[in-house]
Amino acid sequence: MSTPGTDPSREREIAGRLERVRERVRAACADAGRDPQDVTLVAVTKTFPFADVSRLAALGVLDLGENRDADAAAKAAAARDAGLTGLVWHFVGQVQRNKAASIASYADVVHSVDRPRLVGALDRGAAAAGRRLTALVQVDLREPAVDDGRGGAAPANVDELAAAVDAAEHLDLGGVMAVAPFGLDSSGTDAAFERLEETARHLRATYPGAAIVSAGMSGDLESALAHGATHLRVGTALLGSRPPLG
Ligand SMILES: *Cc1c(COP(=O)(O)O)cnc(C)c1O
Repeated sequence: MSTPGTDPSREREIAGRLERVRERVRAACADAGRDPQDVTLVAVTKTFPFADVSRLAALGVLDLGENRDADAAAKAAAARDAGLTGLVWHFVGQVQRNKAASIASYADVVHSVDRPRLVGALDRGAAAAGRRLTALVQVDLREPAVDDGRGGAAPANVDELAAAVDAAEHLDLGGVMAVAPFGLDSSGTDAAFERLEETARHLRATYPGAAIVSAGMSGDLESALAHGATHLRVGTALLGSRPPLG
Protein backbone atom coordinates (compact mmCIF):
# COMPACT_ATOMS: atom_id res chain seq x y z
CA MET A 1 0.00 0.00 0.00
CA SER A 2 1.29 3.44 -0.79
CA THR A 3 1.06 6.50 1.41
CA PRO A 4 -1.66 8.95 0.39
CA GLY A 5 -0.08 11.84 -1.45
CA THR A 6 2.86 9.81 -2.68
CA ASP A 7 1.15 7.40 -5.08
CA PRO A 8 3.10 8.11 -8.28
CA SER A 9 0.53 6.47 -10.56
CA ARG A 10 -2.27 8.69 -9.22
CA GLU A 11 0.00 11.72 -9.61
CA ARG A 12 0.70 10.76 -13.24
CA GLU A 13 -2.99 10.12 -13.89
CA ILE A 14 -4.02 13.56 -12.63
CA ALA A 15 -1.17 15.27 -14.49
CA GLY A 16 -2.27 13.59 -17.74
CA ARG A 17 -5.91 14.49 -17.19
CA LEU A 18 -4.96 18.08 -16.39
CA GLU A 19 -2.97 18.34 -19.61
CA ARG A 20 -5.96 17.08 -21.62
CA VAL A 21 -8.33 19.54 -19.93
CA ARG A 22 -5.89 22.40 -20.57
CA GLU A 23 -5.68 21.33 -24.21
CA ARG A 24 -9.49 21.41 -24.48
CA VAL A 25 -9.51 24.89 -22.92
CA ARG A 26 -6.80 26.09 -25.33
CA ALA A 27 -8.69 24.72 -28.35
CA ALA A 28 -12.05 26.16 -27.25
CA CYS A 29 -10.48 29.55 -26.52
CA ALA A 30 -8.81 29.53 -29.94
CA ASP A 31 -12.21 28.83 -31.55
CA ALA A 32 -13.81 31.65 -29.57
CA GLY A 33 -10.97 34.12 -30.12
CA ARG A 34 -10.30 34.22 -26.38
CA ASP A 35 -7.16 34.15 -24.26
CA PRO A 36 -6.92 30.99 -22.10
CA GLN A 37 -5.21 33.15 -19.47
CA ASP A 38 -8.60 34.75 -18.84
CA VAL A 39 -10.08 31.40 -17.80
CA THR A 40 -9.82 30.03 -14.25
CA LEU A 41 -9.97 26.27 -13.89
CA VAL A 42 -11.68 25.31 -10.63
CA ALA A 43 -10.96 21.67 -9.79
CA VAL A 44 -14.06 20.19 -8.15
CA THR A 45 -12.60 17.77 -5.62
CA LYS A 46 -15.87 16.66 -3.98
CA THR A 47 -15.80 13.02 -2.86
CA PHE A 48 -12.05 12.79 -3.54
CA PRO A 49 -9.54 12.66 -0.69
CA PHE A 50 -7.41 15.55 0.49
CA ALA A 51 -4.38 13.82 -1.07
CA ASP A 52 -5.81 14.76 -4.48
CA VAL A 53 -6.03 18.40 -3.39
CA SER A 54 -2.31 18.25 -2.60
CA ARG A 55 -1.58 16.64 -5.97
CA LEU A 56 -3.54 19.34 -7.82
CA ALA A 57 -1.81 22.08 -5.85
CA ALA A 58 1.57 20.57 -6.74
CA LEU A 59 0.51 20.80 -10.40
CA GLY A 60 -0.37 24.45 -10.00
CA VAL A 61 -4.15 24.08 -9.68
CA LEU A 62 -4.91 26.28 -6.68
CA ASP A 63 -8.64 26.87 -7.24
CA LEU A 64 -10.60 24.07 -5.58
CA GLY A 65 -14.35 23.49 -5.56
CA GLU A 66 -16.49 21.61 -3.07
CA ASN A 67 -20.24 21.22 -2.73
CA ARG A 68 -20.78 20.03 0.85
CA ASP A 69 -19.88 22.12 3.86
CA ALA A 70 -18.54 19.33 6.07
CA ASP A 71 -16.18 17.97 3.39
CA ALA A 72 -15.09 21.43 2.31
CA ALA A 73 -14.37 22.55 5.87
CA ALA A 74 -12.33 19.39 6.52
CA LYS A 75 -10.23 19.84 3.37
CA ALA A 76 -9.65 23.53 4.01
CA ALA A 77 -8.50 22.65 7.55
CA ALA A 78 -6.26 19.86 6.24
CA ALA A 79 -4.70 22.32 3.78
CA ARG A 80 -3.96 24.76 6.61
CA ASP A 81 -2.44 21.95 8.69
CA ALA A 82 -0.32 20.86 5.73
CA GLY A 83 0.90 24.43 5.22
CA LEU A 84 -0.54 24.57 1.68
CA THR A 85 -0.81 28.23 0.87
CA GLY A 86 -2.38 30.17 -1.95
CA LEU A 87 -5.42 27.93 -2.28
CA VAL A 88 -8.71 29.53 -3.28
CA TRP A 89 -11.78 27.65 -2.04
CA HIS A 90 -14.93 27.77 -4.14
CA PHE A 91 -18.21 26.61 -2.64
CA VAL A 92 -20.31 25.38 -5.57
CA GLY A 93 -23.12 23.42 -3.89
CA GLN A 94 -26.51 24.34 -2.55
CA VAL A 95 -26.00 26.54 0.55
CA GLN A 96 -28.06 25.56 3.56
CA ARG A 97 -28.73 28.63 5.65
CA ASN A 98 -27.59 26.96 8.88
CA LYS A 99 -24.24 26.20 7.19
CA ALA A 100 -23.67 29.73 5.91
CA ALA A 101 -21.51 30.77 8.88
CA SER A 102 -19.28 27.74 8.47
CA ILE A 103 -18.98 28.24 4.72
CA ALA A 104 -18.10 31.89 5.27
CA SER A 105 -15.22 30.85 7.53
CA TYR A 106 -13.19 29.16 4.75
CA ALA A 107 -14.75 29.83 1.33
CA ASP A 108 -13.30 32.57 -0.83
CA VAL A 109 -15.96 32.42 -3.53
CA VAL A 110 -19.52 31.19 -2.99
CA HIS A 111 -20.94 30.34 -6.43
CA SER A 112 -24.45 29.42 -5.40
CA VAL A 113 -26.32 32.36 -3.88
CA ASP A 114 -29.84 31.68 -5.09
CA ARG A 115 -32.18 33.33 -2.58
CA PRO A 116 -32.24 36.56 -0.57
CA ARG A 117 -32.19 34.88 2.85
CA LEU A 118 -28.70 33.50 2.17
CA VAL A 119 -27.24 36.93 1.61
CA GLY A 120 -27.72 38.07 5.19
CA ALA A 121 -26.56 34.73 6.56
CA LEU A 122 -23.33 34.76 4.52
CA ASP A 123 -22.73 38.43 5.30
CA ARG A 124 -23.05 37.85 9.04
CA GLY A 125 -20.84 34.76 8.77
CA ALA A 126 -18.15 36.71 6.91
CA ALA A 127 -18.31 39.51 9.47
CA ALA A 128 -17.96 37.03 12.34
CA ALA A 129 -14.97 35.41 10.64
CA GLY A 130 -13.39 38.77 9.83
CA ARG A 131 -13.36 37.91 6.13
CA ARG A 132 -14.76 39.14 2.82
CA LEU A 133 -16.38 36.72 0.39
CA THR A 134 -16.99 36.95 -3.30
CA ALA A 135 -20.57 35.85 -4.00
CA LEU A 136 -22.04 34.81 -7.33
CA VAL A 137 -25.74 34.78 -8.14
CA GLN A 138 -26.72 31.31 -9.34
CA VAL A 139 -29.05 31.57 -12.29
CA ASP A 140 -31.63 28.91 -13.12
CA LEU A 141 -31.28 28.21 -16.83
CA ARG A 142 -34.23 25.85 -17.05
CA GLU A 143 -36.81 27.06 -19.49
CA PRO A 144 -39.51 27.71 -18.60
CA ALA A 145 -38.19 28.64 -15.15
CA VAL A 146 -39.16 26.21 -12.40
CA ASP A 147 -39.61 27.97 -9.08
CA ASP A 148 -38.76 24.99 -6.89
CA GLY A 149 -36.05 26.60 -4.78
CA ARG A 150 -33.32 24.46 -6.33
CA GLY A 151 -30.82 25.17 -9.03
CA GLY A 152 -30.67 28.92 -8.94
CA ALA A 153 -32.69 32.11 -9.05
CA ALA A 154 -35.15 32.62 -11.88
CA PRO A 155 -33.69 35.15 -14.33
CA ALA A 156 -36.42 37.62 -13.31
CA ASN A 157 -35.09 37.61 -9.73
CA VAL A 158 -31.40 38.05 -10.53
CA ASP A 159 -31.39 41.86 -10.28
CA GLU A 160 -32.95 41.86 -6.83
CA LEU A 161 -30.53 39.23 -5.56
CA ALA A 162 -27.53 41.02 -7.07
CA ALA A 163 -28.58 44.27 -5.41
CA ALA A 164 -28.80 42.50 -2.05
CA VAL A 165 -25.30 41.02 -2.45
CA ASP A 166 -23.92 44.38 -3.59
CA ALA A 167 -25.41 46.07 -0.52
CA ALA A 168 -24.00 43.49 1.92
CA GLU A 169 -21.04 44.94 3.76
CA HIS A 170 -18.80 41.84 3.74
CA LEU A 171 -19.74 40.41 0.33
CA ASP A 172 -18.41 41.36 -3.08
CA LEU A 173 -20.71 40.72 -6.00
CA GLY A 174 -18.53 38.64 -8.33
CA GLY A 175 -20.95 37.78 -11.13
CA VAL A 176 -23.09 34.81 -12.06
CA MET A 177 -22.97 31.02 -12.00
CA ALA A 178 -25.08 28.34 -13.65
CA VAL A 179 -25.27 24.64 -14.29
CA ALA A 180 -26.62 23.65 -17.70
CA PRO A 181 -30.03 22.01 -17.30
CA PHE A 182 -29.83 18.23 -17.28
CA GLY A 183 -30.71 16.30 -20.41
CA LEU A 184 -30.26 18.97 -23.09
CA ASP A 185 -28.62 18.23 -26.43
CA SER A 186 -25.69 20.39 -27.48
CA SER A 187 -27.82 23.07 -29.13
CA GLY A 188 -29.99 23.26 -26.01
CA THR A 189 -26.87 23.64 -23.87
CA ASP A 190 -25.59 26.37 -26.19
CA ALA A 191 -28.90 28.21 -25.89
CA ALA A 192 -28.84 27.93 -22.10
CA PHE A 193 -25.28 29.31 -21.85
CA GLU A 194 -26.27 32.07 -24.26
CA ARG A 195 -29.04 33.11 -21.83
CA LEU A 196 -26.47 33.12 -19.04
CA GLU A 197 -24.12 35.28 -21.11
CA GLU A 198 -26.95 37.75 -21.70
CA THR A 199 -27.78 37.82 -17.98
CA ALA A 200 -24.10 38.42 -17.16
CA ARG A 201 -23.89 41.27 -19.69
CA HIS A 202 -27.02 42.87 -18.24
CA LEU A 203 -25.59 42.63 -14.71
CA ARG A 204 -22.25 44.17 -15.73
CA ALA A 205 -24.07 47.22 -17.10
CA THR A 206 -24.99 48.05 -13.48
CA TYR A 207 -22.05 46.39 -11.68
CA PRO A 208 -18.96 46.58 -13.90
CA GLY A 209 -16.94 44.59 -11.36
CA ALA A 210 -19.26 41.58 -11.59
CA ALA A 211 -17.10 39.97 -14.25
CA ILE A 212 -17.23 36.30 -13.28
CA VAL A 213 -19.23 33.87 -15.38
CA SER A 214 -18.97 30.46 -13.70
CA ALA A 215 -20.19 27.90 -16.21
CA GLY A 216 -18.97 24.75 -17.84
CA MET A 217 -18.18 21.35 -16.37
CA SER A 218 -16.40 18.27 -17.72
CA GLY A 219 -19.01 17.60 -20.39
CA ASP A 220 -19.82 21.10 -21.62
CA LEU A 221 -16.83 23.36 -21.05
CA GLU A 222 -16.43 24.09 -24.79
CA SER A 223 -19.97 25.47 -25.03
CA ALA A 224 -19.47 27.52 -21.84
CA LEU A 225 -16.21 29.00 -23.17
CA ALA A 226 -17.96 29.95 -26.40
CA HIS A 227 -20.41 31.93 -24.26
CA GLY A 228 -18.07 33.89 -22.07
CA ALA A 229 -17.35 31.54 -19.15
CA THR A 230 -14.50 32.88 -17.02
CA HIS A 231 -14.54 30.05 -14.46
CA LEU A 232 -14.89 26.36 -15.33
CA ARG A 233 -15.86 23.90 -12.59
CA VAL A 234 -14.32 20.59 -13.60
CA GLY A 235 -14.41 17.38 -11.57
CA THR A 236 -14.60 14.12 -13.51
CA ALA A 237 -12.29 15.15 -16.35
CA LEU A 238 -9.52 15.97 -13.84
CA LEU A 239 -10.00 13.28 -11.21
CA GLY A 240 -11.99 10.46 -12.80
CA SER A 241 -15.42 9.11 -11.97
CA ARG A 242 -16.66 9.91 -8.53
CA PRO A 243 -17.36 7.05 -6.16
CA PRO A 244 -21.15 6.79 -5.64
CA LEU A 245 -22.24 9.03 -2.77
CA GLY A 246 -22.60 7.18 0.50
C1 LIG B 1 -19.80 18.25 -9.27
C2 LIG B 1 -19.98 19.61 -9.82
C3 LIG B 1 -19.22 20.05 -10.91
C4 LIG B 1 -18.20 19.17 -11.63
O1 LIG B 1 -18.86 18.30 -12.48
P1 LIG B 1 -18.06 17.31 -13.48
O2 LIG B 1 -19.10 16.91 -14.45
O3 LIG B 1 -17.56 16.19 -12.65
O4 LIG B 1 -16.98 18.09 -14.10
C5 LIG B 1 -19.41 21.35 -11.34
N1 LIG B 1 -20.32 22.17 -10.76
C6 LIG B 1 -21.07 21.79 -9.71
C7 LIG B 1 -22.04 22.74 -9.13
C8 LIG B 1 -20.94 20.49 -9.22
O5 LIG B 1 -21.70 20.11 -8.18
